Amino acid sequence: KTYREWETKKIPTTCPHCGTGCQMNLIVKGNKLVGVEPINGAANKNLLCVKGKFASYKFVGSGDRLTEPLIKRNGIFEPATWDEALTLVAEKFSQLKEEHGADSLAGFSCSRSINEDNYVFQKMMRAAIGTNNVDNCARVCHSASVHGLAHTLGSGAMTNPIADITTDVEVILLVGSNPEEAHPVIGSQIRQAMQRGTKVIVVDPRKIDLVKNSELHLQIQAGTNVAFANGMMHVILKEGLADRSFIEEKTEGFEALEQLVAEYTPEKVAEICHIKAEDLIKAARLYAKADKAPIIYCLGVTEHSTGTEGVMSMSNLAMLVGKIGKPGCGVNPLRGQNNVQGACDMGCMPYDFPGYQKVANPQVMEKFEKAWGVPLNKNVGMTSTQVLPAATEGKIKALYIFGEDPIVTDPDTNHVRNALENLEFFVVQELFMTETAAYADVVLPGISYAEKDGTFTNTERRVQRVRKAVEPKGEAREDFDIFCDVMTRLGYPCHYDSAKEIMDEIASVTPTFGGINYDRLEETGGLQWPCRNQEDPGTPIMHVGEFTRGKGLFMAIPYKKSRELPDESYPYLMSTGRMLYHYNTRAMTGRTEGINQIANRSYIEINTVDAIRLGIEEGDKVTVKSRRGTIETYAAVGNRVFPQEVFMTFHFPDGNVNELTNAAFDDIAIIPEYKVCAVAIAPAK
Ligand code: SF4
Repeated sequence: KTYREWETKKIPTTCPHCGTGCQMNLIVKGNKLVGVEPINGAANKNLLCVKGKFASYKFVGSGDRLTEPLIKRNGIFEPATWDEALTLVAEKFSQLKEEHGADSLAGFSCSRSINEDNYVFQKMMRAAIGTNNVDNCARVCHSASVHGLAHTLGSGAMTNPIADITTDVEVILLVGSNPEEAHPVIGSQIRQAMQRGTKVIVVDPRKIDLVKNSELHLQIQAGTNVAFANGMMHVILKEGLADRSFIEEKTEGFEALEQLVAEYTPEKVAEICHIKAEDLIKAARLYAKADKAPIIYCLGVTEHSTGTEGVMSMSNLAMLVGKIGKPGCGVNPLRGQNNVQGACDMGCMPYDFPGYQKVANPQVMEKFEKAWGVPLNKNVGMTSTQVLPAATEGKIKALYIFGEDPIVTDPDTNHVRNALENLEFFVVQELFMTETAAYADVVLPGISYAEKDGTFTNTERRVQRVRKAVEPKGEAREDFDIFCDVMTRLGYPCHYDSAKEIMDEIASVTPTFGGINYDRLEETGGLQWPCRNQEDPGTPIMHVGEFTRGKGLFMAIPYKKSRELPDESYPYLMSTGRMLYHYNTRAMTGRTEGINQIANRSYIEINTVDAIRLGIEEGDKVTVKSRRGTIETYAAVGNRVFPQEVFMTFHFPDGNVNELTNAAFDDIAIIPEYKVCAVAIAPAK
């Protein structure tokens, strides 16, 4: 400890890293964060992982923080006043809107920041700038969940609470999710459940650590989730394990599904997925026969060119056995970033206003025009994955990025660079000079979660408080206040005194947030939406009695191959994912020395058989090449992946894996296929 207890105060807040939403105290000495301790929150039960405990406060006081606005002149950033910087932003956006129309402008909002900032950002894009070209990074992680679950069940979110699906359940079907690294506190709760007797079926191309004590590991080839689910349903129907009365009373579209899955025999699925037919049969029996058996899934299901279809397949499977709308069941996507659920809920999406109210619905449009007092653009906007190619083509002229770093996070980095270089005007609002911010014309210093009041919404739809613990550095400003200033300069006067006031406005226009306000959040510690009025205690389990959309919709989905598979030139199938110690671009976790001492470089997992054939040993430097780029990284040799398959993390600038990944998109959610591309590997020269 570097502090004495009596010199400090404790400020309760929510962890800023993953979507688990762990509750913790920030320990403050003077105006400095000196530590973190867990609180007994609904999702974390007094637990914190290494990121929450050690990497959630040091970055706040980092000397690398942006402390003044910057304007790029002759290719070099120079300090500017707020007035100069915001006048330039407003002038350029007005000029380009005048010349090319409002739909030549776009904005990406920040899934790390509070709901209140996200609400005001999308209001700025819609009411003041005049376009629905607004999106957030859910586009590249769980947009497939939002689309797939909304289409089949009526709501694009986790159906059951974390505590409910990790306590006293008989079976967990864990698909494409490595919670011990990506959502460690949920991973710990799953491991505790295993110790109490819960049987876990791991469906994953890698031998993740949870495999060790699991009941069964189906090591399917990446990109074959739809075939796997169809095979499970084939067995369930054949063996009479489907819940016929649930199907009859509560769902529609079953006949087409039944017909389709008849083709997916265990033998056929075993061949597609590279698994044993008897393991598929065993998994189907275990899952179907258990009373309480949630499906928990993550990016291994969504980040495919068939991501939305993979998600709908999870809904199919749960509905077939009647495991929706009940305790210990459901379909449960683990959302990645701390507030990616909230960024979507707040309407930072091109076709949805807050609360998933549709831009395309004239009554909704009229309601927001009245609430915001201005005519709004009726065109549904572009997704972030459409905005970047449109910038390359010259159709998008200006972009406002709030707290995202697509140079590091988006697939096919070269393509992202070209898009950003082609913009006529580019604004980034950030905590640090990121790789993306370096391309901007204007950089605006925002503030971190520890310097503001607000709310995050965790993966189980629980809205929880974030509280200011320290004053921001230099001239960095409250993010929503910067947006208000831009709006006012664009001729749409806007001001809020506090985040609390913004939440009251959110509740007034968003039926699912109608009963949420700061007083109730203080009393309860958190509320799960839908929470429609002051008497509504919130909704822990969704679709009880009937589905949000009325009847649950089965979708008959044939299996399709991934867009790029190995061939002679690129013989290895590569998948990407997270590691325990770092979060996404490392903009936050990479500023904690102890974390960097443990994990400071990228690596590629390669099977021993392949390593021997290629003459590669553990720790060797290797060259990895795809059709889009070449990088160098270090070999991690073993048997976590099958021969002919490799895995890389995406956190490190040395060997940025997104130089290699494929910008092939899902047709529905326009989510990229990070999880499958073809690469070649050789020892580095
Ligand atoms: Fe933070 Fe997620 Fe770790 Fe909890 S599990 S402490 S929310 S990073």
